[in-house]
Amino acid sequence: MKRLEQVSLRAFNTFGTEARARRLLQLESLDDVNQLGSGDFRPGFDLVLGGGSNLLFVDDVPGTVYLNRIRGRRLLEDDGDSVLIEAAAGESWHELVCWSLDQGFSGLENLSLIPGLAGAAPMQNIGAYGVELSDLLDSVLVFDWHSGQGLRLASRDCHFSYRDSRFKSGEPERFLILSCRLRLHRTREPVLSYAGLREELDTMGLSAPSAREVSAAVIRLRQRKLPNPELIGNAGSFFKNPRIPTDQAEALQMEHKGLPVHPGDDGQARISAAWMIEQCGWKGYREGDAGVSAQHALVLVNHGTAHGREILALSRRIADSVLERFGVELEREPALFIAADPAAHA
Ligand code: FAD
Ligand code: NAP
Repeated sequence: MKRLEQVSLRAFNTFGTEARARRLLQLESLDDVNQLGSGDFRPGFDLVLGGGSNLLFVDDVPGTVYLNRIRGRRLLEDDGDSVLIEAAAGESWHELVCWSLDQGFSGLENLSLIPGLAGAAPMQNIGAYGVELSDLLDSVLVFDWHSGQGLRLASRDCHFSYRDSRFKSGEPERFLILSCRLRLHRTREPVLSYAGLREELDTMGLSAPSAREVSAAVIRLRQRKLPNPELIGNAGSFFKNPRIPTDQAEALQMEHKGLPVHPGDDGQARISAAWMIEQCGWKGYREGDAGVSAQHALVLVNHGTAHGREILALSRRIADSVLERFGVELEREPALFIAADPAAHA
């Protein structure tokens, strides 16, 4: 287990904001995890970190950052059509998607090019272009910080919902996710419910795309539409797309012509947070080094040396203006690290 003291976390988060950790422990194997005990993790004092692509440091980390770098992926079962694969938490998510497609397995193609590591994927039930992790996840292996024991949680025990799970809002910071098992298929109808994805495939001249071709279309779309964190600090969408009752969404659309509304079959519709933020005049806005991407209004950016607190303050003003104009509350998507009073842990 690698151990570093007094570490800058700037290179460990895609916002590229500065924050410091008192200690950083790099977990590289299950043997390293076996050295952890119940009570080793104190919320607001310690932090588990994957690729840092869905996280904003508001404060320094007064305790330990557990950097998850446990690698490994393998095929566990193959019945000729359906397969079960396992990825350790430190595997790059996108590399896992590419590897699965190389093996001839379909299922993950719509989730191509999502930054971060496999261990964080269940946290917010990652999703894009009509597919969510929960559509494919069989189970996860976790270490329970409360009991100090490992346990396997079936998908139904992860309480997945839209960009949420037991790990994110149910029992935050109770579990260290160690690996994910995914059920994929050799033949599977592609999910083409998103108009933008169908249009991209049309442009590519693909009317009956393979999983690999869907992945290529998703990659093209994302590279065109989203700011690249290697060029400008960001954590993807800063807000979730609100779910509101369909009749309320339709009434809002009558009042605000052009508001994109996507009715679901559960009486709830998704409305576009990006559109409302843009209507409030925030797209491309900049204040110091904190700003809103000129490419995508849902993405907050760090132009250089913005502090997490400045980005958070800007996000609150954006949410307030959307609430005032549209009567809709925006919910933040990335996790915040806010230190508990260090004295409380002394
Ligand atoms: P981190 O940012 O390191 O961690 C996120 C949270 O999970 C933190 O609370 C952390 O403590 C916790 N955590 C991390 N690993 C573990 C673990 N092993 N055990 C327990 N807790 C853990 N998300 C989507 O859902 N869909 C998208 O399409 C999408 N597109 C994006 C595009 C861009 C350009 C960017 C920058 C981000 C995007 N995201 C998207 C958000 C992000 O990439 C995902 O949520 C990703 O799964 C985060 O992984 P990570 O390893 O970087 O997590
Ligand atoms: P988009 O295709 O322009 O669509 C705008 C929003 O409307 C989407 O975010 C999506 O909500 C919703 N939507 C579009 N078509 C829909 C349909 N047929 N059925 C239901 N809802 C529909 O979105 P985008 O911003 O370019 O992003 C494309 C996809 O990548 C989306 O799924 C988005 O969530 C995902 N993405 C996520 C992040 C992140 O950080 N979380 C960053 C970039 C992109 P949903 O969000 O519910 O899908």
